[in-house]
Amino acid sequence: MTQMLQKVAKEEGVSVTDLKTGITRGRIVLVKNKKHRIKPLAIGEGLRTKVNANIGTSPDVASLKNELKKLSACIEAGADTVMDLSTGGDIDHIRKTIVNVSSVPVGTVPIYQVAIESRKRRKAFTKASVDEMFEVIERHLEDGVDFITVHCGVTRESIRGLKQRRRVCGVVSRGGSMMIEWMLSNKKENPLYEYYGRLLKLAKKYDATLSLGDGLRPGAIADSTDEYQIRELIVIGELVKWARIENVSAMVEGPGHIPLHEIEANIRLEKNICDGAPFYVLGPLVTDIGAGYDHIVAAIGGALAAYYGADYLCYVTPSEHLGLPNVEEVREGVIASRLAAHAADIAKGIEQARHIDLKVSQARYSLNWQKMLHLLIDEKKARKIFGRSRPHTNQTCTMCGEFCAMKKTKEVMRRVQ
Ligand code: SF4
Repeated sequence: MTQMLQKVAKEEGVSVTDLKTGITRGRIVLVKNKKHRIKPLAIGEGLRTKVNANIGTSPDVASLKNELKKLSACIEAGADTVMDLSTGGDIDHIRKTIVNVSSVPVGTVPIYQVAIESRKRRKAFTKASVDEMFEVIERHLEDGVDFITVHCGVTRESIRGLKQRRRVCGVVSRGGSMMIEWMLSNKKENPLYEYYGRLLKLAKKYDATLSLGDGLRPGAIADSTDEYQIRELIVIGELVKWARIENVSAMVEGPGHIPLHEIEANIRLEKNICDGAPFYVLGPLVTDIGAGYDHIVAAIGGALAAYYGADYLCYVTPSEHLGLPNVEEVREGVIASRLAAHAADIAKGIEQARHIDLKVSQARYSLNWQKMLHLLIDEKKARKIFGRSRPHTNQTCTMCGEFCAMKKTKEVMRRVQ
């Protein structure tokens, strides 16, 4: 354990003491199921901002081969974790394969599978028993899933008034809408909340991390930071504290669609209400009009969110709100999100982030193209653009050619000396 912590601390550029203190206080989580043979990932306060990429089949597009290609693209592009959100095909087989192949931590949302299996048995999801839900959760953990999204904060209290005071986009979380349907139909409390102690025992058994899902996250700018979102966050805050008492790692999921000027308040609310628990945000998307470019919209929000203290960004692809992403869109999503995380890390004073930028700038000024290209976040794309036309001088690029300002500055400086 100590050796592993030393390795993680070294990679993060922090001391082992700081890492241990963060873990003890619950402000850093070490993500790794004890059955998964991977390097643990530390997420939280004072560390590099992490990036997650969602992959997985849908009922309409269900090819394991394709999902494995997406997994490779995610890892190659530098994603820190992946979530398998499959809802089509042989879910168990897809999940097991992804967990076995992945070199980074894998997360899932087990409740999706409960709904899929209910449908297969020609039964409504609302008829699923509490034991069936927990059986599926344990199946995921037994397969080595490192973190699970559980929508425990969607309670009868947090959804109070939703029927009368409707939102523009209602409930956009699949898991959140499932739990609401189950609760209203059975006139009972959310089982993931009511039997949270049982959930904690399972997570502890596998050293898994609970990702407390934001089932009531806003899905429209008009719905941002509303009463439902905040009431759910207050419930989640209580659940984080309970998890800490039981020594279970817990992080908190966050919005969603949030305008720029509300991002800082959202981060502060989570950090205050959940006592500094790692915050995992989806985007956030800062406008609703960007479909086709939502990876950019999310990167704008993600950079600001991470700057104010979000610890973990869930990527968004260009196909968000339009369809299941293809391999190239997955790659673009990871790069966009990594850029957001990196930009925030520079501003947060993460030493390693500043160092890479310095190296790139030095190589750029030396017109050392090979070195500079190699250090860039997307070397492949940069090489393609750089290589498509070469200037006469062969030292500069075609942007300014013989009027290259960097070249000129160096010449002038040499002459002046
Ligand atoms: S040619 Fe222009 S854009 Fe290209 S390296 Fe020189 S200064 Fe930069």
